[in-house]
Amino acid sequence: MSDPLSELNPVTERRAIRVLRPDSPSEAVSLARRFKVPYMAGGTWLQPTHERDQCWPEKLVALNAAWPAFRGLEDDSRGLTVGALTSLSEMARHPLVREYLPPLALFLNRVAGPGVRALGTVGGNLAVGGDLSALAMALDVRVDVLNRTGERTLPLSRWLRERASDDLLRGFTIPDCRGWRISLEKLGYRERFSPTRATLVCVHDGDRVRLAVCGEGGLLRLVAPETFVNDRADLASGDVGAVIDRELAAHGWQDAHLRMALRRMTTGLLSEVALGT
Ligand SMILES: Cc1cc2nc3c(=O)[nH]c(=O)nc-3n(C[C@H](O)[C@H](O)[C@H](O)COP(=O)(O)OP(=O)(O)OC[C@H]3O[C@@H](n4cnc5c(N)ncnc54)[C@H](O)[C@@H]3O)c2cc1C
Repeated sequence: MSDPLSELNPVTERRAIRVLRPDSPSEAVSLARRFKVPYMAGGTWLQPTHERDQCWPEKLVALNAAWPAFRGLEDDSRGLTVGALTSLSEMARHPLVREYLPPLALFLNRVAGPGVRALGTVGGNLAVGGDLSALAMALDVRVDVLNRTGERTLPLSRWLRERASDDLLRGFTIPDCRGWRISLEKLGYRERFSPTRATLVCVHDGDRVRLAVCGEGGLLRLVAPETFVNDRADLASGDVGAVIDRELAAHGWQDAHLRMALRRMTTGLLSEVALGT
């Protein structure tokens, strides 16, 4: 008898995808490595992406939020740890988010629509460079990753540079940022689904300003503008615009209008963290 999964579906005109359901994170890593197929968390990014590209994987490795430490938020001496399979809506309404990252609860309501937020995970959002990635970059988040060689904890920026296709993100830890001033703003098309054009994050950790951006030009810690601002005592003064523009252009942000918008956004966010509003 033929395998129904290998036959073309007459309506969709494609083969069914075999969803593998491993019992443990290590089995998930082995399956992803053996079959060279992606992990699936909420599936909210995978589904429209493969639909758009008309190119579907033969198999997917489904992740399981019941695996230890993969879901939920906890704080300890290291800061706030967030399981990768926590949904965006769960994170938005969690009391620890109000304590550590007050502006995030409201901001998350502007990430996609309620259906995507209910299914989509914070780990998936980081993995695809979504809005949370700029915040995570500005906060110097550390990620907890499993792969064939074992487990490791490393800065997000390093993981994104070195990431292997079978790396499984278990969660991430935000340093104790209670009392830090955090402002964030996003720019996108509101009328239809499209990725965010740009999300800018400005953090004042009590000592220094940190700036990060994600969106059309990719995820970037704005190192030169940070230095420029931190070398000046008054955050709200000094023309950081030209430095922002140069940094963005040098890192692939080609749209001059978008860079102009980011210059304005930066000035606004810097004033907010300067005033503590
Ligand atoms: C209509 C719509 C609107 C959206 N609007 C916004 C928006 O305004 N702002 C924004 O930031 N995002 C937006 N998104 C993106 C959304 O945030 C992501 O789709 C979601 O967070 C992805 O999470 P997921 O669990 O569904 O990931 P999946 O779709 O399951 O996976 C996405 C990718 O991440 C990988 N992955 C997932 N989890 C892990 C893990 N634990 N370890 C390793 N790899 C992993 C998968 O292999 C896959 O490559 C939108 C999406 C849609 C469909």
